[in-house]
Amino acid sequence: MAVVTRFAPSPTGPLHLGHAYAAIVAHDLARSHGGTFLLRIEDIDQTRCRPEWEAQIADDLHWLGLSWPTPVLRQSDRVEIYRAALQSLWQRGLLYPCSCSRRDILEAASAPQEGAAPLIGPDGPVYPGTCRARHRQSGPLPSDCALRLDMSKAAALLMSHQDHAPNPLEGVIFLEVGQGPQGQHGLIATPARHLTDQIGDIVLARREMGTSYHLSVVLDDAAQGVTHVTRGEDLFEATAIHVVLQRLLGLPTPIYHHHRLIRDAQGKRLAKRDDARALARYRAEGASPADIRHMIGL
Ligand code: GLU
Repeated sequence: MAVVTRFAPSPTGPLHLGHAYAAIVAHDLARSHGGTFLLRIEDIDQTRCRPEWEAQIADDLHWLGLSWPTPVLRQSDRVEIYRAALQSLWQRGLLYPCSCSRRDILEAASAPQEGAAPLIGPDGPVYPGTCRARHRQSGPLPSDCALRLDMSKAAALLMSHQDHAPNPLEGVIFLEVGQGPQGQHGLIATPARHLTDQIGDIVLARREMGTSYHLSVVLDDAAQGVTHVTRGEDLFEATAIHVVLQRLLGLPTPIYHHHRLIRDAQGKRLAKRDDARALARYRAEGASPADIRHMIGL
């Protein structure tokens, strides 16, 4: 198999040591198999993305010694593809419009156990289902509100497609060649019950973006023929969502390689705002690419 990997940053700030680690892991995995490393620009949130950050990302990665084919895929160029996939899910009755605010969700999610903390899924509080009754798959795809995936319907559909009697403990499966946050490795099964109760009805189209991270990433990985998705272990739970979407949309499931996160001295995961650990800063202070590899334990 020709290995294809990708590094998919959002141009919302400077790359830091955590990004360098993620990019090098993806690059080295492809190179060690004689495969291809891709750069993809995840710029669906146009309010936060800036061309100057995109230029800085390419410059930092080249400086680290990485190269990739051009032109680079930019998510903002693919809005119509994302829309078409939403349209197909909509026509199949798998989506519903939602107009809940974050606050509505928090209030409704904590209501059953007054004052108890709501259940947290990969995208925040598990959606309590307030708008689920608003199913109306006839008519055009709404563009003035968020669209959620009806996870119970999705799970039931996937189970009915198993080539043997469906078992509610079964769900979606992917192959992990790295490690999840609890050391998970090998075939990872996410039961239907977990999908519906612990992940729930996730947003597939945000009102202001017309798409979402989950939908775009799945469509792009398939369009680019990505065979191995390397990503931080913080996305381990989200990967199950991606496998659900791949199955619903008839797309292949890549092999996953979750990796450790680079943390600061307090053990906190680095974020874009941690300018102190920006690659540009180390470069300005005279560090070499080998110094960076050393700092991140490579
Ligand atoms: N843009 C995402 C990030 O930087 C991509 C990660 C992924 O989907 O693997 O976290």
